Amino acid sequence: MSTLIMKFGGTSVGNAEAIAQACSIVKSYHQDWARLVVVVSAMRGVTDSLIECAELAVQGEEDQYQSLIEQLRANHHSAMKDIVSDEMELEQLTPQFDEYISELSEYCRSIHVLGEVTARGMDTITSLGERINAPLVAAALRGQGLAAQAVDAAQLIVTDNSFQNANPLEEATRIKVNEILVPLLNEKVIPVVTGFVAATEQGIVTTLGRGGSDYTAAILGNSLDASEVWTWTDVDGVMTADPRIVTNAMVIPELSFSEVSELAYFGAKVLHPKTLRPIIERDIPLWVKNTFNPASTGTKVIRSSKSDEGKVTAITTIRNLSLVTVEGRGMLGIPGIAARTFAAVARQGASVLMISQASSEQSICFVIPSKTVSGVIHSIESEMELELSRRDIDRVWAQPEIVIVTAVGAGLRTTPGIAGRVFSALGEARINVIAIAQGSSEYSISIVVAEKDADDAMRKIHQEVILNG
Ligand code: ASP
Ligand code: MG
Repeated sequence: MSTLIMKFGGTSVGNAEAIAQACSIVKSYHQDWARLVVVVSAMRGVTDSLIECAELAVQGEEDQYQSLIEQLRANHHSAMKDIVSDEMELEQLTPQFDEYISELSEYCRSIHVLGEVTARGMDTITSLGERINAPLVAAALRGQGLAAQAVDAAQLIVTDNSFQNANPLEEATRIKVNEILVPLLNEKVIPVVTGFVAATEQGIVTTLGRGGSDYTAAILGNSLDASEVWTWTDVDGVMTADPRIVTNAMVIPELSFSEVSELAYFGAKVLHPKTLRPIIERDIPLWVKNTFNPASTGTKVIRSSKSDEGKVTAITTIRNLSLVTVEGRGMLGIPGIAARTFAAVARQGASVLMISQASSEQSICFVIPSKTVSGVIHSIESEMELELSRRDIDRVWAQPEIVIVTAVGAGLRTTPGIAGRVFSALGEARINVIAIAQGSSEYSISIVVAEKDADDAMRKIHQEVILNG
């Protein structure tokens, strides 16, 4: 049975006009599929505002969080009035809205009193964006004459209790999907499911991490064994580079699952990094399409793409990083230094994005987010107190303001000489390369450059290895 999951991101449902556009897209495709499921994000900016409310409450800024809540209330109300004309619909929706908004006020009030917010509390608060929006989009679809019903994914997607970044439990989720979604689908009703939101087996609300609505769509795709998953966004598809920096960046027509995973990992905001897992398992093709330009084809993501073997497909960057170096002549041959260094890093909860060790064994360097640097250096210094006092290790230091530029492409694995071309391009532009790593997946090469060189490095690599490639 042909089944399609369509996910609309925050901008695609960002205001009344966008929601109307999203609805006309659903309308134009729904007859082509035996079963159609819609997944929606919160309206653009709403999740950020909800987080800000909680943070203001922690700081005790009562006036400020209240005015932010008021703003959220007003925005949703005006969107509702613009989209929903039916009186009965409005009568049903309004109290539901007001209920969510007063819940939000109460949560903020408690946070204010306690002076802190837990990860669990944060999930309850951030889930409200999607939970307010799904009923609105469902009403808008009904306004277009389609049978649609909002479904709160807290009833549908079962996860562990890793709040703010929860992991779905496949079997438990499938059971709920069969209980709740399948009967709607059998009656030709379009379920409008809240993205991002889930719950533990005990029913405590969790979320799948920022940008998690993509992941929701993929999880449902897996449970329903969908034919395809389409994610609607505000760009024409996955681009060869960030078009704000590389003005001649192009849409990539087809990409493999591995290339997209690598891109997501290395900072391209294409898809939530875990999105691919549930659909790779079932080999479900995924499309990235533009809500505001539905006629353009978009990007198709499949198991193995025809994208030219031997080519770099895209370039991406991760910014706000620092390179930490642990160095000393006495490190040579002392076992366990690397293990102890990274254990000290892990104790700070910092994620390491890249590692390289000189073969002389006189230094280890690695890249971490700048905001974690001072804690990490501290932690390594106290771990290595003895080695530092003996001068086996001379110093632990950080170079700030660096960027990882990553070139991704399935062809990197099989084609010699691409790395060479990347480096000659940088050499010609006189850009200094601070460190290099080839992804162990062999689908990427990462280069560390100074922040001031990052944009030039991107443009240069894009020109030489993608456009001229
Ligand atoms: N609303 C959530 C966020 O902003 C999830 C999503 O949009 O995918 O992170
Ligand atoms: Mg997104």
